[in-house]
Amino acid sequence: MIVCAEQALVEAELVGGLLACPSCRGTLGPWGHARERVTRRVSGDWRWRPRRARCRGCQGTHVLLADLCLSRRQDEVEVIGAAIEAHVGGEGHRPIAARLGVAASTVRGWLRRFAANAEVIRALFTRSAVALDPELGPIVPAGGGVADALEAVAVAGRAWVLRFGPCPVWRIMCRLSAGGLLSRNTSSLATTVW
Ligand SMILES: [Zn+2]
Repeated sequence: MIVCAEQALVEAELVGGLLACPSCRGTLGPWGHARERVTRRVSGDWRWRPRRARCRGCQGTHVLLADLCLSRRQDEVEVIGAAIEAHVGGEGHRPIAARLGVAASTVRGWLRRFAANAEVIRALFTRSAVALDPELGPIVPAGGGVADALEAVAVAGRAWVLRFGPCPVWRIMCRLSAGGLLSRNTSSLATTVW
């Protein structure tokens, strides 16, 4: 489950009973912490322990991941997004990796997974954009595959900002995909409707 990166805000929402269970929409309450993890951010490594929550309805437990983390990826989503944008713009994975200070094989892994998920991503963010902005016009094809997926990302990001106010676009994508943007199993992406 993806929540805001501001831990104090998440804590207040959790204690105040304002977070809903993704399974049953019941009220989530505090339930300790998950193990420590390290997220590689532009500003340096961030060590943190995600909050765990338990649903008062279905009793299910959930780990609350910040909206700058994608599932099973150690680098923050904005770095991954910058790599994807540069690649769609024509840059190869090695120069991107050198510029971002990330291993070339890691960047290649992101790009391959984004390409493999491109159609599911395009469809998800097109649905999300329309849900966020019912008056949205048709999304113009950008040239197929990853370019169309990235265009849908941009359109959904603009629709989100119009509705909720400024937020970095890749953090919005993290929330809309429930952290699953680069997951191998895309079944949840295919059915997620914001
Ligand atoms: Zn529940």
